Amino acid sequence: MVRCELGTAESADRSSDAGSDRRAYLLGVGAAMSTIAGCTTGTDDDRAPPEEVTPDREPYTLAPGEYDTIAIFRNDDPHPGYRIEALRNLETVFIEANVPVTHGVIPAAPDNAIADDSEFCREFRRRDARYPGLFEYSVHGYTHQIETAFYGGSEFGDRPFETQRELVADGISKVADCVDRRPTTFIPPANTYDEATVRAILEEDLRVVSGGEWFTRQYYGDHELPFEAGGALHVPSTHDVVADWGTLEFLPLEEMKAAFDDVEHLYVCMLHYQHFTTEERIEYLEELVEYVDRDDRVGCMTLESFGRAYLDGTLTELDGGWEYSPE
Ligand SMILES: [Zn+2]
Repeated sequence: MVRCELGTAESADRSSDAGSDRRAYLLGVGAAMSTIAGCTTGTDDDRAPPEEVTPDREPYTLAPGEYDTIAIFRNDDPHPGYRIEALRNLETVFIEANVPVTHGVIPAAPDNAIADDSEFCREFRRRDARYPGLFEYSVHGYTHQIETAFYGGSEFGDRPFETQRELVADGISKVADCVDRRPTTFIPPANTYDEATVRAILEEDLRVVSGGEWFTRQYYGDHELPFEAGGALHVPSTHDVVADWGTLEFLPLEEMKAAFDDVEHLYVCMLHYQHFTTEERIEYLEELVEYVDRDDRVGCMTLESFGRAYLDGTLTELDGGWEYSPE
């Protein structure tokens, strides 16, 4: 496994309050982009075009049956030129565990828009061909820049519908060209979005949106998970490994495990691959994924496979769990 060491991601400021924590989260990507120059991007080990890649294993699918909990891992922020080795570190954890993961790909980060003929996209296509069903490529906003003050900062919330629709359409097309597959889900940056965002994604045939539970509870009121509103299925992230967005300190692993044990039916864990730059952090992720996937009571899915199964009725909620019965 190739792992890139960038030292710890922690800064000296441990005194941030919730407000500055939130600002640090919103500014995290842009700030880090300008300061990180440690890793070379891409690997030279396998340059075969995707059509020559043979699958490494059978496609990942969830086995039919009953589950107490459905678990979804959502990895936000992949985009070219930014800690690519950390992205490979994270992917390797999921490949080795044979647990699916949803990548929230940023279509047009400033100076780093995705291009289908780039090594970044070729590598995605190779991974996808080699490990079918394991990776989903979702659209994570457009530029990932904060454009409005909506709920503490948003790229989409409070912007005109037409603007949102154009950005969503172009974002979908960029991600689709990159991975040779049309995305079906949308992850708004900063976990915030409004009713116009939902209309915009529906116009482009995306039916699943994943913001943050802290946000959906304020904007949509109290709800079960997942919930349908405005014609879309809302599957917000319920957990985050980062304890403090000012210092980027992680929650103790035992706390993450205990939090997972407390989950009723649906666990949506938000990750940011850029944090997995040290052996310690990678081992943390390995242990967390292994813990979540440790027995047959838990079914692991992508946002896409969960959304599709939920909406087509092959995944149904039971008292205290789920039943998955695909045709
Ligand atoms: Zn993000």
